Amino acid sequence: MRSARRLSSTPPYVFATLDGKIARLREQGVDIIRLDIGSPDGPPPEAVVRALARSASDPGKHGYAGYAGTPALRAAMVHYYRQRFGVVLDTASQVLPLIGSKEGIAHLAMAWLDPGDVALVPDPGYPTYAASVALAGGQAYTMPLRADRQWLPDLAAIPEAIARRARLMWLNYPNNPTGATAPLSYFEEAVAFCRRHDILLCHDAPYADVGYDGYRAPSVLQVAGADDVAVEFNSLSKSHNMAGWRVGMAAGNAIAIGALAQLKTNIDSGHFLAIQDASVAAFQTPVSWIDQRNAVYQARRDALLPVLVDDLGLETATPSAGLYLWPRVPRGTTSAEFADRILAETGVSLTPGSAFGACGEGYLRISLGQTTERFMMAVERLRGMRL
Ligand SMILES: *Cc1c(COP(=O)(O)O)cnc(C)c1O
Repeated sequence: MRSARRLSSTPPYVFATLDGKIARLREQGVDIIRLDIGSPDGPPPEAVVRALARSASDPGKHGYAGYAGTPALRAAMVHYYRQRFGVVLDTASQVLPLIGSKEGIAHLAMAWLDPGDVALVPDPGYPTYAASVALAGGQAYTMPLRADRQWLPDLAAIPEAIARRARLMWLNYPNNPTGATAPLSYFEEAVAFCRRHDILLCHDAPYADVGYDGYRAPSVLQVAGADDVAVEFNSLSKSHNMAGWRVGMAAGNAIAIGALAQLKTNIDSGHFLAIQDASVAAFQTPVSWIDQRNAVYQARRDALLPVLVDDLGLETATPSAGLYLWPRVPRGTTSAEFADRILAETGVSLTPGSAFGACGEGYLRISLGQTTERFMMAVERLRGMRL
C-alpha cells in the first residue's frame, strides 16, 4: 500500500512536526511556553458566543446550509468591506464564505491552475501557498522578500518568461512571518503588474484588523479597478479571535470567486448555520473591541522588544501590524539551531524563519498570541538568557 505521489511534494506541515517535539519535552516535565503558533489567545466578542448559543438552540438551524453562505452573512461581508475600506462589492458574485481562509487559499490553486502553470509565491511565506500550488500540479516560482526592500517582492526582478507563464501571485500584508506592511502604492504596482501579465493577484489579509499605534492596513481592493484582477482572502480568525470557528472569506474578482465556489460545491457543504449567524454578529462588533484587543498585543510587543534588542542584542524591527516579531539571529548560527537553543535553555518555543522558506533563514518568528501572564513569563526567561 502507498499514498499518492503528490504527497511526496508536500512535506508535513511544519507546526505538525514541532508539535511532536514539544509533546516529548512536556513528557519529560519541561514547562514549554509556546510563542511559535500564530493563534490569538483571547476569546471572541461575547455577543458572538451568545449568537451561536441562541442559533444552535433553534431546531431549524441544524440541516445543510447551502454552499454559498446565508444572504445575511454575505451581506455582512459586503458591509464590512464598505465600512472598513470604502470598497463596494456585489453581494451575489464578489464574496464567498470559506471554512477558514486556509481552506480557500488551498482550494484556489486547484480551481485556478492547470498542471505546469506557474504561481508566484513569497519566500518567506505562509506555507500553504506553495504547498497548494504543488498539490494542484502547478509550479511555484519564489519571490524573495528582503529586509532592504521592506519585505515587498521586487516585481521588476521577475523574469519576463516567468511572468508570461504565471497564472497567479500571492501577496500577504500585514505579513506573516516578517511583520511588514504594504502601502497602498505597492498594491497599485502589483495590480498593474498582474493586469499587464494577466495574472490573478491573490492577497491574503487575515491581519488587516490587527494594527498598532493607530495603523490601519489597506485592502488591495481599494486600488481602482483591482477587482478586474485581484481577489482578497480575509478571516475572522485573527480579527475576532475566532481561529477555531473556521470562518474566512474571499472577496473581489468574480471569475476567481465563481471558480472557487464551483470547486467547493464538490468538496464541502458550507458552515453550520449557527456559526454563520454568529459570524454576522462578529461583523457587528464595535471597533472599540478590536482596538482594546490590539492594545493587549501592543503591550506585549512593547515588553518583548527591548529584551530582544537591548538584552539579547538581536536586530528587530518594530511591527506596526500582525501578530509577530521577526528578530535576526546572531551571525554564525542558523535560525533552527538558535530556536533549538532557546527552547533547550528557556523552554520558550519560537519558530525558525527557515520554516517559512529559504529566505526566512537568519530570522525567528515570535508570536504575540499567548496569554499575557505566560507571555511575560517567556519575556523574563529570554531576558535571563546568556548569548
Ligand atoms: C492565520 C493565517 C491564515 C489562516 O487563517 P484561517 O482563516 O484561520 O484559515 C492565512 N494566512 C495567513 C498568512 C495566516 O497567518
